[in-house]
Amino acid sequence: MSAWVLITGGSRGIGAATALRCAQAGWDVAINYAQDGAAAQALAARVRGLGRRALTVQADVADEPQVAAMFECLDAEGGRLAGLVNNAGIVAPAARLEAMSPERWRRLFDVNVIGTLLCCQQAAQRMSTARGGLGGAIVNLSSRAAEFGSAGIYVDYAATKGAIDTLTKGLARELITEGIRVNGVRPGIIETDIHANSGMDASGAAATIPIQRLGRPEEIAEAIAWLLSDAASYTVGAMVDVAGGR
Ligand code: NAP
Repeated sequence: MSAWVLITGGSRGIGAATALRCAQAGWDVAINYAQDGAAAQALAARVRGLGRRALTVQADVADEPQVAAMFECLDAEGGRLAGLVNNAGIVAPAARLEAMSPERWRRLFDVNVIGTLLCCQQAAQRMSTARGGLGGAIVNLSSRAAEFGSAGIYVDYAATKGAIDTLTKGLARELITEGIRVNGVRPGIIETDIHANSGMDASGAAATIPIQRLGRPEEIAEAIAWLLSDAASYTVGAMVDVAGGR
């Protein structure tokens, strides 16, 4: 029986690579996006080209009614939701503490942390064996920034990822009793559009990484797909670093 994986922020970058990797692994793929509908549609066509079902859903993961509507949209498609990848995430322009605003902090935490919590809540309702579901797997996108703290660049973003680490460990222990495995992936510096949003030239960072290059989205997707799969059946509450030794 085919099953759905919902990938938030699935239209571009790591999310898009994950959508294709999951389709190759046999998942039907629901692609959430915020604004770039054309990118999501083009990706859905590639998923269908791999012989899987694809659905695109616009929703701001920070918005509770929009998240609820997104899951209802998936319900209406029919089939089982067995996977969730909480990938949608934002950064903000590089800045020191004194130049940051509370509005910036709220938006970062709303999208990166509250968005993840909202999606976990909706998914758990459907996956939980205690509520009639068949179990499932959730993968949360953290960052190596959670450990380093990103001083002088975006300590606020790093703090949102620290929160992801903590909630991943807590939810893993809470939800495994209901058949849901929760794990996380902590990418290093990966070649995506996200860096342009912070005004950083990520290519210059290669020399600071032990492997001497940035990562590719496909290299993160591989870890996510493994954590979603039955091959990771005993892996619960793990944070997998995919960061070239950083
Ligand atoms: P990206 O290329 O900027 O893509 C972001 C994706 O998230 C897009 O699909 C975007 O949709 C979507 N999105 C943004 N805000 C959203 C919202 N409020 N609701 C729903 N979707 C939203 O990002 P990425 O580099 O692939 O990063 C993916 C995840 O990995 C993030 O959580 C990021 O923090 C984490 N990460 C990335 C790196 C890195 O170096 N790239 C390193 C560590 C961790 P639209 O296309 O519609 O805008």
